[in-house]
Amino acid sequence: MNCVRVLPLIAFAAYACSGPQETAPQSTPPQSNSPNAATQADAIDVAAVHDRVIALDTHVDIPFDFATDAADPLSGDMQVNLQKMRSGGLDAAFFIVYVGQTERTETNYEQAKADALTKFDAIHRMTDELYPELIEFAYSADDVTRIAAQGKLVATIGIENGYVIGNDLNLIDRYFELGARYMTLVHNGHNDVADSAQPRPQFGDSATEHGGISDFGAEVIRRMNAVGMMVDISHASKASALDAMALSRAPVIGSHSSVAGVAQHARNMDDETLLALRDNGGVVQIVAFESYLQTYPPERNEAVQNLQRRFGLNGPIDPSTLAEADADAYMRGMLEIESQWPKPGVAALVDHIDYAVNLIGIDHVGISSDFGGGGGIDGWSDATETMNITEELLQRGYSEADIAKLWSGNILRVWAEVSDVAANING
Ligand SMILES: [Zn+2]
Repeated sequence: MNCVRVLPLIAFAAYACSGPQETAPQSTPPQSNSPNAATQADAIDVAAVHDRVIALDTHVDIPFDFATDAADPLSGDMQVNLQKMRSGGLDAAFFIVYVGQTERTETNYEQAKADALTKFDAIHRMTDELYPELIEFAYSADDVTRIAAQGKLVATIGIENGYVIGNDLNLIDRYFELGARYMTLVHNGHNDVADSAQPRPQFGDSATEHGGISDFGAEVIRRMNAVGMMVDISHASKASALDAMALSRAPVIGSHSSVAGVAQHARNMDDETLLALRDNGGVVQIVAFESYLQTYPPERNEAVQNLQRRFGLNGPIDPSTLAEADADAYMRGMLEIESQWPKPGVAALVDHIDYAVNLIGIDHVGISSDFGGGGGIDGWSDATETMNITEELLQRGYSEADIAKLWSGNILRVWAEVSDVAANING
């Protein structure tokens, strides 16, 4: 490594590029009379810590044309590609087979299955055909550790939305064979498996449909336990999440969720759910999703609406639809609003991590981006900036062992336990 980022404990963050053995950076003044004098031993080498841990992002969405010329996994214009993973030290990712909720009809179930298979194919095309020398598919938690130790990137798969199985439990086995190692039971809008945290009235959703997990959903969880697929409660309603934990014989995960104790949002987990997750042995992967990390005061929304009205607009708009002068003025207005009510950055993400760690312990918390699916914040806007999270964690006093758990140790432990439970069920 040529350029090592150095974080002195005492005073200044700085950059030094003289190799791993560099002396204390010049911007840290010597304080020989102070008992806290900054010496080389005080400096934490962020890059070295980051290199030693496996950084695993549990939620990276892909477009439908992933692994084609239009979306090249190596260098395509996405928040996560293999070059960005390499340069940012993101070692591993769950690439997501996401299919959005539509009306529940037989035709739509068939379409959802076809769409899911398109994404499974694309992810395997990346690992098996296009870039097998750079990235390898992990079918087990041990695979992740083994592949990363060889210096290769790691890919595995999570499904987002139990809708993709329609009414067919056998599809759980089929998707597992294709490498799916977790499945988010539900997305926006209730499905046949569970109630969602965010019902979709346009599909006829009322506040609740099943009151949590449906009878069919209980069978889904049973089958997931039996094949060794992690049950993911992100996007589930609170009742669904609590039901899932009561029903599952193995620990469950929240693959991309944040905490209501810091920001009140339907998608965030409240304390009761988090404590149940701890007791269940599971893990919540705190997500870098702007609107979950920080709720704005009504004044900000008012300011945005006033700005939009000034340009004769209703709701969120694409400034490119405005004439050039108006678009410039609109953008200036937005920047002003954002300077008054700043967008959440890495510190906000780590505030959620801190809260969860304080409440349920370091063994039950992890990290996810939701890149490609709306995720991304100031300071972690794509995979190249992954190390900023490690830097913030070090600054707040997390040890390397803690950071290793947050970045992958906990989710890999849960994954291995889920596999063991399946082996026991089948043994
Ligand atoms: Zn999601």
